Amino acid sequence: MEMASPETPNYRCAHFLTSASKLAQCPHDEGWEVAFAGRSNAGKSSAINTLTQNKKLARTSKTPGRTQLINFFSLSESQRLVDLPGYGFAKVPEAVKREWVKQLENYLQHRECLRGLILLMDVRRPLQEFDTMMLDWALAAGMPVRVLLTKADKLKKGPAKSTLLKVRAQLAAHDDLVSIQLFSSLKGTGLDELAKTLDAWLTDTSVLEDEEEDFSEEEPSAGL
Ligand code: GDP
Repeated sequence: MEMASPETPNYRCAHFLTSASKLAQCPHDEGWEVAFAGRSNAGKSSAINTLTQNKKLARTSKTPGRTQLINFFSLSESQRLVDLPGYGFAKVPEAVKREWVKQLENYLQHRECLRGLILLMDVRRPLQEFDTMMLDWALAAGMPVRVLLTKADKLKKGPAKSTLLKVRAQLAAHDDLVSIQLFSSLKGTGLDELAKTLDAWLTDTSVLEDEEEDFSEEEPSAGL
């Protein structure tokens, strides 16, 4: 299948595409996708809204018990941002949480067009159970992860920096795939860094090159 090289996206052009509650309902698995995940209240909606300059885009339902869906935002014909359901403070029944976990794992492990994961954690409460679960799945899939330590404005510069270094040290064993930064939607801290990461992932054509390499390996060698 021919796929044109993608251009650097304009995040302000993001618009809602569709929702899915399971993998089978997701848009066709092609192109370039980057997913955002975080426990509820981590600041995920605020981050997506700040990035896209669209206050209404990632308006999440905070209604207890209501099933949250995987939301797809289109940047271009072949590039998408994905808002994954978070949980934590949300008061939802155990059975609903279990179903989310199942669908999240399914999406992270099987979505071919997923190029990277943005994992948001409150800078005051990093690496909770949900976060390590998401990290484990991403690492198992060999997927790059950018950790955003959110609401960095809630800490003074010194403590924010030392949290960054501490989390970086805790994840040092995976520094080939995992990178970490401070972020604040309120102050705009780390927004450029985030955009650079997204730009790189959403225009990464190395997967297409891999496919070409695979193809050439299938050609009969000269001696046969
Ligand atoms: P979500 O549940 O992960 O989508 O979290 P939200 O984006 O809805 O944010 C949860 C709460 O944290 C809201 O009250 C936000 O106003 C607040 N919040 C989000 N980002 C920031 C930030 O950068 N700084 C501060 N001080 N508060 C933030």
